Amino acid sequence: MSQTELGGPADFIRAIIAEDLARGKHEQIVTRFPPEPNGYLHIGHAKSICLNFGIAKENTPARCHLRFDDTNPTKEEQEYVESIKEDVRWLGFDWGEHLYFASDYFAQLYDYAEQLISQGKAYVCDLPADQIRATRGTLTEPGQNSPYRERSVAENLDLFRRMRAGEFADGSRVLRAKIDMASGNLNLRDPVLYRIMHTSHHRSGDQWCIYPMYDFTHPISDALEGVTHSLCTLEFADHRPLYDWFLANLPVPAQPRQIEFARLNLGYTVVSKRKLLQLVNEGHVAGWDDPRMPTISGIRRRGYPPEAIRGFCDRIGVAKKESLVDVALLEHCVREELNQRALRVMGVLNPLKVVISNYPEGQSEELTAQNHPQQPELGQRQIPFSREIFIERDDFMEEPAKKFFRLAPGREVRLRYAYFIKCDEVIKDASGEIVELRCTYDPQTLGGSAPDGRKVKGTIHWVDAARSIEAEVRLYDRLFTEESPEKGGRDLTSSLNPDSLTVLSDCRLEPGLAEATTGQHFQFERQGYFCLDPKDSRPGRPVFNRSATLRDTWEKVKGS
Ligand code: ATP
Ligand code: MG
Repeated sequence: MSQTELGGPADFIRAIIAEDLARGKHEQIVTRFPPEPNGYLHIGHAKSICLNFGIAKENTPARCHLRFDDTNPTKEEQEYVESIKEDVRWLGFDWGEHLYFASDYFAQLYDYAEQLISQGKAYVCDLPADQIRATRGTLTEPGQNSPYRERSVAENLDLFRRMRAGEFADGSRVLRAKIDMASGNLNLRDPVLYRIMHTSHHRSGDQWCIYPMYDFTHPISDALEGVTHSLCTLEFADHRPLYDWFLANLPVPAQPRQIEFARLNLGYTVVSKRKLLQLVNEGHVAGWDDPRMPTISGIRRRGYPPEAIRGFCDRIGVAKKESLVDVALLEHCVREELNQRALRVMGVLNPLKVVISNYPEGQSEELTAQNHPQQPELGQRQIPFSREIFIERDDFMEEPAKKFFRLAPGREVRLRYAYFIKCDEVIKDASGEIVELRCTYDPQTLGGSAPDGRKVKGTIHWVDAARSIEAEVRLYDRLFTEESPEKGGRDLTSSLNPDSLTVLSDCRLEPGLAEATTGQHFQFERQGYFCLDPKDSRPGRPVFNRSATLRDTWEKVKGS
């Protein structure tokens, strides 16, 4: 959805781009997605990916670059680079040949820094970091000039070259732009361009011991790549004058335009790498790809299809104002997708054995079940039926409540795709727990109705006892009990949902699920949508993750 129903651009950014194209400002639109490889991508990044790559797709021959903003050697790791690439691809986007690393521009950036020095627009400052901070001033007070601000060009060049040569210790000197310590915009008060760090970089190794700052690197990287529209989140709006200052003061090959949009905030979770890292490090989740995490790898493992994420990003749109998006909308988009394509199967999560006493011992038969009753083209399958089956414990009540229409003593129900059964006897163990039901079936009710026209009120799912497979099933709920987990300065972990994961370890599933593969989606009838866990499943012992329940709360929210 790149356009509104009337055919106009879907958002203010697409409107700007359409206008730029219409007046011939650019022949080709170039956008970029610039992750820092210091963590896994999350659903917030998906919004930015869908926006940048989406715009490129809609404006052929446009393109979108994947650029790693890898200027901080201490926090970055190759592992993250690989996972980020995998996530972008999984979301359905392709950067083609346009894979870049800011670290590839280190030499060019250094050159530009020397040019600023030569123009008298940058200087080496010997103040320690806390002094630089202390003399920066506040929103109401101007900053103070550094005592090193008036160094000569020659001295600055000499010192900067020696910084590069490794003559000075970490933190002893920085290179700063010489702009205006009294500027109303704090980002223009002589920002730091380079710092000394004797640290190996994941790509450039030990080639450099000075590293450029993000604010200096970003506009130059954009310009070097010919980016036309540099789309970023609102917190960078205050940095735009500095972004433009670099473009105006350096002989860069292009003049990209920075445009800010509101970041995605999502209820009942957090979208910040730092906070997600905290959840991982403190062991509140099993890792970055824990299916409860809002990371791309987590939601992929949970069984959210990429189409659902793209659909969600379309639905939330792109605006200038921050807001909190209802997580029910995301879940709704997931259900919509899964409802279309998930194969219907039967799985019993809390099994209760049923012995059908009038079904011949040693006999079994194959019954026909639909893979998707609303989509006959998805075909049908055979499922085994015999004297012993499992039903869901919840589908039986010894003393049925008023509106309970399923199995109870003396009552008859329909088994999905099989026969009517009637409960004759309840078997309990010494502690009084129900361990088995004795039922009789009516052989004339195959196909769902009785020849004498008698009705049953309930239809329940089941699996054959002998031929069903054993499986572990993991049910997930929201990670936090509060929509804004940190509201009022609360510690993140104080509203963790203790019931966000329920592990059911002796579930029984119809035999076909032994062949389930990663990437397939199933609806366990009456239970929800499930997928095979790619990590913890073992041969003969599959693990299934519940992607979503069947109950959609979004329609209700929307209607209220
Ligand atoms: P975090 O706040 O999680 O640490 P970040 O902004 O530091 O994220 P980057 O790797 O720098 O992470 O982000 C890459 C791109 O994704 C940036 O352009 C950033 O603006 C965008 N982005 C990050 N978080 C969100 C979000 N919640 N919604 C939309 N875009 C986002
Ligand atoms: Mg960032």
